[in-house]
Amino acid sequence: MRSITTLDLQYAHRFYGFKGEAQYLHGHTGVLTIEVEDSVEPGVNMVFPCNEIQKTAWEVLKNFDHALILREDDPLLPAVLKVYEEQGIRDGAPQNQMKGPAFKTELATAYPECRLVVTKETLTVEGMIKIVYDLLKDKLNIAKITFTSGVNAASADFSTHNQIDRCPLCGIALNEHGVCPKCGYKKQ
Ligand SMILES: [Zn+2]
Ligand SMILES: [Zn+2]
Repeated sequence: MRSITTLDLQYAHRFYGFKGEAQYLHGHTGVLTIEVEDSVEPGVNMVFPCNEIQKTAWEVLKNFDHALILREDDPLLPAVLKVYEEQGIRDGAPQNQMKGPAFKTELATAYPECRLVVTKETLTVEGMIKIVYDLLKDKLNIAKITFTSGVNAASADFSTHNQIDRCPLCGIALNEHGVCPKCGYKKQ
């Protein structure tokens, strides 16, 4: 069965080199739906608590929210960084608190201090799905990701087979010692 959660991401981007309006910098509220598939944990009668999927996903995905997402070869990138540098906000600002841990994958690098994500490929809805799956595939048994942004939408199905033991009392993933980080239950 599946547990399904949805997150909103507000971001700015452009399709560098694309022949259309999207070659200009613009913004979206994107809606990301993550479907997690597993057996139903009998103790709690659920696959996985949806708020926990959201928490796990948000920890990395908050780097995309209120962020600028640019392709690595986009000349806007050095231009924007120059302005941030001159303004003294490139390495952070007291008001920039919604930061996830910096990450670097094959497809994207996050710079949380200046709310920037640099991507290898153009950030289409398809591109976003590839990046998100790559970031979360080892943490969640993702069966499907759907991303909609404006009139654009895409979805992809996956088969992820992580062995994730869940707490029979609150449903969340047990840590590497078989202990529930939330309620302290220990796997026998
Ligand atoms: Zn767009
Ligand atoms: Zn628990």
